[in-house]
Amino acid sequence: MKRTLSILGSTGSIGQQTLKVAQACGHKVAAITVNRSVELAEAQARRFKPSLAVAVEEKAAADLRTRLADTGTKVLSGRGGLLEAASLSEADTVVTAIVGVAGLEPTLAAIECGKRIALANKETLVCAGELVMARAKERGAEIVPVDSEHSAIFQCLQGCRDKGAVRRLIITASGGPFYGKSCEELSLVTKAQALKHPNWAMGAKITIDSATLMNKGLEFIEAMRLYAMPPERIQIVVHRESIVHSLVEFEDGAILAQLGSADMCLPIQYALTWPERTPGPAKPLDLLSCPPLTFQKPDPDTFRCLGLALECAEKGGTSTAILNGANEAAVGLFLEDKIGFLDIPRLVERALEQVPAADRPSLDDILEADQAARGAVYDSVR
Ligand code: NDP
Ligand code: MG
Repeated sequence: MKRTLSILGSTGSIGQQTLKVAQACGHKVAAITVNRSVELAEAQARRFKPSLAVAVEEKAAADLRTRLADTGTKVLSGRGGLLEAASLSEADTVVTAIVGVAGLEPTLAAIECGKRIALANKETLVCAGELVMARAKERGAEIVPVDSEHSAIFQCLQGCRDKGAVRRLIITASGGPFYGKSCEELSLVTKAQALKHPNWAMGAKITIDSATLMNKGLEFIEAMRLYAMPPERIQIVVHRESIVHSLVEFEDGAILAQLGSADMCLPIQYALTWPERTPGPAKPLDLLSCPPLTFQKPDPDTFRCLGLALECAEKGGTSTAILNGANEAAVGLFLEDKIGFLDIPRLVERALEQVPAADRPSLDDILEADQAARGAVYDSVR
């Protein structure tokens, strides 16, 4: 099945790989959005000829409008532009590849229009998962995960007629570049080391989240929301080789797993073509050249971000939005060389102590909690 895509965050790591899949598989691109990367956005627009291109930053949008003046692509700016791209009538599928909570409102806008959501933006489900999943159900919008672990689980659940037969979800974690290090060693790691993931090439924020293991904590919450699973029925195992992307254990003890090379093209493509499978650009996996597959326990005490995320997963309410907002702010400061690696969990923990959490939050409660958490982090480093 050929799809018509609106790609939110087309210049990022997932966005660019989505375009690679679209090119290889013949999906149409109706809209692209960026924050400010106009040069790449121009090249993408010339190649894929979308009817709409959005640059969120006003100045960038003005520049992009000049660059694309000789084409048929309309250029919009700001939050309004983003929401228009998310609800464009021409597109049947919205790929949410924006990083951070900035992806929440456009995802909701796409859900309102009943689009298929190929969901990469995990922060949306971490902050507002219950609300988003409920709205998607009401509007008949399909949410198909792009995150490799959740795609693996989604694939393992195909053909499962009785959801009650699922005993546990098992999420694999590479462990990141610092697996096995002590707190003392972690206090000395640099930004360059943290940005070097052993198995995956990704955007800067998720790469740092992978180094702190916050990414696995966010994914734990994402899995709870996507699959309506309580925390006690989700397990994280460290699997250094990143070949088994995640597993599902059933009541009879059978465990199904999805294996593949560390290539996001496959989960992106499956989110577009599900329930069908088509040939595509993903690197095949050669079992005979795989290293031995190993599985170990994670260490949420040393990797405190994981411990904090698991605590918030239990608490629910706005605590996960506070966790996420504080983490986005702290990772931003780390990437600007303003704080050290271990300041990330320290600042997130402090924000969780300072910002009161509420149960059964509305969208406004969630956005307020996010802002309060960011404020708490910035106040702590002032
Ligand atoms: P990148 O940082 O590589 O790309 C982010 C994209 O979003 C860029 O197009 C960027 O535009 C745009 N963007 C950034 N900030 C804003 C904003 N405030 N408003 C609107 N657009 C914005 O991220 P990734 O592709 O790595 O990740 C995207 C999402 O997918 C994240 O939620 C991540 O957790 C998830 N994910 C990523 C994986 C990966 O392999 N990369 C794997 C699994 C999940 P510009 O270029 O102009 O800055
Ligand atoms: Mg993942």
